[in-house]
Amino acid sequence: MAYKIPRGTQDILPGDSEKWQWIETIAKETCKAYQYREIRTPMFEHTDLFTRGVGESTDIVQKEMYTFDDRKGRSLTLRPEGTASVARAFVENKLYANPVQPTKLYYIGPMFRYERPQTGRYRQFYQFGIEAIGINDPAIDAEVISLALSIYKKAGLKNIKLVINSLGDKDSRAAHKEALIRHFEPRIDEFCGDCQKRLHTNPLRILDCKQDRDHELMGTAPSIQDYLNEESKEYFNKLLTYLSDLDIPYTVDPNLVRGLDYYNHTAFEIMSDAEGFGAITTLAGGGRYNGLVEEVGGPEAPGIGFAMSIERLLAALDAEQIEPPVTNETDCFIAALGDKARDAAVRLLAQLRAEGISSEIDYENKKLKGQFKAAERRSAKFIAILGENELNEQKINVKDTETGEQLEIKLDEFVRFMKANITGA
Ligand code: ATP
Ligand code: MG
Repeated sequence: MAYKIPRGTQDILPGDSEKWQWIETIAKETCKAYQYREIRTPMFEHTDLFTRGVGESTDIVQKEMYTFDDRKGRSLTLRPEGTASVARAFVENKLYANPVQPTKLYYIGPMFRYERPQTGRYRQFYQFGIEAIGINDPAIDAEVISLALSIYKKAGLKNIKLVINSLGDKDSRAAHKEALIRHFEPRIDEFCGDCQKRLHTNPLRILDCKQDRDHELMGTAPSIQDYLNEESKEYFNKLLTYLSDLDIPYTVDPNLVRGLDYYNHTAFEIMSDAEGFGAITTLAGGGRYNGLVEEVGGPEAPGIGFAMSIERLLAALDAEQIEPPVTNETDCFIAALGDKARDAAVRLLAQLRAEGISSEIDYENKKLKGQFKAAERRSAKFIAILGENELNEQKINVKDTETGEQLEIKLDEFVRFMKANITGA
């Protein structure tokens, strides 16, 4: 019986995996420049962490979690996102006690959500994300946004748009919440069941409903912008000033609300407006979560972060017809003729590899012609030919496949020669 991959998951095969590595390298190098350091948390956590940290009324908790009991009956959940785990680790490992603040972390790895699979939406997907925890300062919000954008820029994307909003502080949100309830309550029976349930717990989330997005009350809903108190307004304006200073264009969208319950102040999304990108245009989402660390049992520690999926970044590259600059060339293919030459080739191969020169030989006992063909299939930059004669004379023939130039090299100089040609050393 043949097995099939579970729905909503993917195999990432050679040819594509190099593209993933390329993106991961860009992300990691950017983090280094911005001084974010990697944290690796477990792939599963106690279910409570997510119910608490992501929020009861979110889609994630309500319908997307992979939750199971282990053999001792503990409820565990495959992580649907990274922030709750980072907050947990921040508290559990007392990272707040480190005199260097904020604590700046990044993560990269698979997340799991039971969703309806479609382009850009998987059940296992890879997120790269960062969190800056410990300080409330719009300069950090600007830094987080700038880091996200610079990754897309380095990857070569041109059609990128930053959409931003402020959800205000607790007081602003509370005032806005009252106004939203007053706005939706009289006609709430025209909305989906989820929205009806959310009306009193988290009416802000109604604005994020995908089912009722065209209802006329959506467009006329009270805007959070009108409920921001002075402090929240000042915070937001300062952030916008920083963005302008950094030459980062933005659009303020008063209806932008993020899916997670713990956001306040800054909320943002990075979208692709490339033609043909399809229905899902959000590449990354993030925002400030000043209550989260306390919510998971820690001290007061404001935070901000964002997450992007590698899948959607790759899809955006596709839409802009950008081909990641990845190849898998072989530096040197050694074609050997005869048993003795072949044994010598095996030794040379090990020496080349020890010098970091990607190299290969034939394992199928092919004739010379077949070995040349194999070298060609691998786009080998050099083919080194070793027969009994060459071996007796302690020489090897090296052909540069680009120029067609062929040289006879002393066997004991071969590795140095290859190194000089491949690495310039
Ligand atoms: P959406 O509204 O598209 O469902 P979301 O609000 O659930 O997004 P977040 O939880 O904020 O998304 O996750 C941040 C980023 O992770 C998204 O912007 C997207 O790049 C990516 N992402 C989220 N869910 C998926 C998924 N199922 N498959 C691939 N990428 C995803
Ligand atoms: Mg979602």
